[in-house]
Amino acid sequence: MELPELTILGRQIKNEIVGKQISEVEVANPKCLNMSFEQFQKTVIGKAVKSVESRGKWLFIKLDSDHVIVFNPGMGADVIHFEPGDKLPEKYQIKLTLHDKTGFTIRVWWFCYLHLMPKNKLGEHKLTAKLGITPLDKKFTLEFFKQLLSKRRGNIKNFLVDQKNIAGIGNVYIQDILFNAKLHPKRKISSFAKTDIEALYKSIKSALKESIQLGGLAYEKDFYGNKGGYGKQQFKIAYKPGSPCPTCQTTIQKIKTGSTSSFICPNCQRLNT
Ligand SMILES: [Zn+2]
Repeated sequence: MELPELTILGRQIKNEIVGKQISEVEVANPKCLNMSFEQFQKTVIGKAVKSVESRGKWLFIKLDSDHVIVFNPGMGADVIHFEPGDKLPEKYQIKLTLHDKTGFTIRVWWFCYLHLMPKNKLGEHKLTAKLGITPLDKKFTLEFFKQLLSKRRGNIKNFLVDQKNIAGIGNVYIQDILFNAKLHPKRKISSFAKTDIEALYKSIKSALKESIQLGGLAYEKDFYGNKGGYGKQQFKIAYKPGSPCPTCQTTIQKIKTGSTSSFICPNCQRLNT
C-alpha cells in the first residue's frame, strides 16, 4: 500500500466513522501496539472520532480525547468496513466497533503499527515525526522539489522511497515514475539536469493521481472490499521483465537496487548520460 491506496482508504474511513464513538476494540496481535492492550482499550473506548487524515503510508485517526490513533499497514492490509449483520472476513487481527454497530476489521499481510499518541506528543512519535511532505500536498511545488533535491548525494530511487524525504512512494509506483521520467534508479541526483527534475516532478504527480482516479492498485482492497483499477494494464515497465518497453521495444530488465528490485528499460533509462 502506497500513497494512492492510503489516500482512498483515508477518505472512505473518514466518511464512515467521523462523529461516531468507539465502543469496542479487539487486537489479536498486541505487538502492533505501542502500549498494553488494556491501556489502549481504556484510552479509546467511549471516545468519538474527530477526524481521519492520511499522510504517505500512514493514517491518523484523531479522537475527541486529544489522542490520535496512528496506523500503518506495513506491506499491506485489508481494512474492511462492516455494517450491523454483515458477515465479517474469515481472518482479521484487529476489529474496531462504533456505537452504531458499524466498524471495520483489519487483516494484516505481514505486520502493522497501531499506535496511540497524545495529540501534543505526536512530534515524539519516532515513526511519523520525520515524515516528509506528500506529493499531493499543495506545498509540493516544482520549486520545493528542486530545493529538496539540491545538494543531495546518492541515487534517486533511494531518495524517493525514503519516507523522510517524500512520504508515500514505495517499490511499486517508483518503477513507472522513474521510467516516465527516463531516469535510471541508480542515477546520482547530482547528475540531474533541470529537465530531469521537471520530468520527475511531473511523473510523480501524474502516476499517483492516475492511480487515485482508478481506485488504487488492482490487487489491494478499499474500505468496501472493492479492488482498485490500477493494474498490469497501467504499469508500463513495473513487474514486466522480459516484455518489450512500450516506448522503444527494448526488453525490460529486472535489476537489483540495494535490497530491492527495480524494473528498467536499459535503453530509455541510461545510467550514464
Ligand atoms: Zn525503452
